[in-house]
Amino acid sequence: MRVSQDSLFEEYQKRGNEIYLSKTEFIDFLKCPYTWFLKKKLGRKTIVTSKSLEGNTLHNIARVINVSYRTTENIDKYVMSLSIEEGLSEGVKNFTNFVKMKERNLEEPFPTVLNGRVMSEVLIVVKYDEIFYLKGHLDAVYRHGELFEIVEYKKSFYKDISDFWVELNFYGYIFEKSYLKKVDKVSLFSFSNGSYISLPFSLDDILSKIDFVTNEIKKENFVPLPSLDKCRFCLYRNNCSYRV
Ligand code: SF4
Repeated sequence: MRVSQDSLFEEYQKRGNEIYLSKTEFIDFLKCPYTWFLKKKLGRKTIVTSKSLEGNTLHNIARVINVSYRTTENIDKYVMSLSIEEGLSEGVKNFTNFVKMKERNLEEPFPTVLNGRVMSEVLIVVKYDEIFYLKGHLDAVYRHGELFEIVEYKKSFYKDISDFWVELNFYGYIFEKSYLKKVDKVSLFSFSNGSYISLPFSLDDILSKIDFVTNEIKKENFVPLPSLDKCRFCLYRNNCSYRV
C-alpha cells in the first residue's frame, strides 16, 4: 500500500514537540499570520473548493502517469488506457505534452524511493533549527547534469507569478538542504493551458523569509492582516471574524 504524504509527515510529527512548517502554512503565514492561529491554535479547517478538487484530481492523474510512463513505450497509448473523463482531458493532454517535451530534451526525472517503491513526487522533511522542521511535497524534480530543477504543477496560474516564486524557492531550499544538491531553477507548469515558466532559484530571499516566519511563530505574533484581496482568496475566510 502506498504511504501517503500525510502519513509520512505524521510519523515524523510523533517523534517530539517540534514545530512542523509546511509550504502552504509558510505561504499563508506570510500573507496573514492569523491563518496560523486559526489552524494551529483553534484547529480550524480550510474551505474545500471545486477548483481545488479538480486540481487534486489532475495532480493524482499526473502522479499515475509519472510513475507509469517510465515503463511504457507509448505514453499516448498509456494515457488513452486511463479513460480520462472529458472535463479533465485537456489538462491531461497538456501534462502529457509537458512530459514528452522533458523527454525530448533528455531531462531526467529525479525520483525518491519510499518503502522500496519509486515515487513520482519528492517528499521532504528537513530540520531547520532547534525547533522547526520544514516539510514539502514536490511535484517533480528534474536533473540537468549536476544541477536540479524543481517543478510545481498548478491547475492554472491564478495569482501573481511572484507569489508562486516564493513557494518554489521554499521547495528549492528544502531540496538543497535535504539532498545536498544544487538547484539552479524553479518552474511552474499549468494543467489548464500547458504553460511552463522557469525562474532562477534565490537562496538569500527564501532564507530571510523563513527566518522571519519562524521568529514570528516563536514570538506567537499572529496578528491578522486582512485586506480585500487577501481575504477573498483565503481558505480560512469562512472561519475568520477579521475577514473583510
Ligand atoms: S480571512 Fe483575512 S484576516 Fe482572516 S485569516 Fe484570512 S486573510 Fe487573514
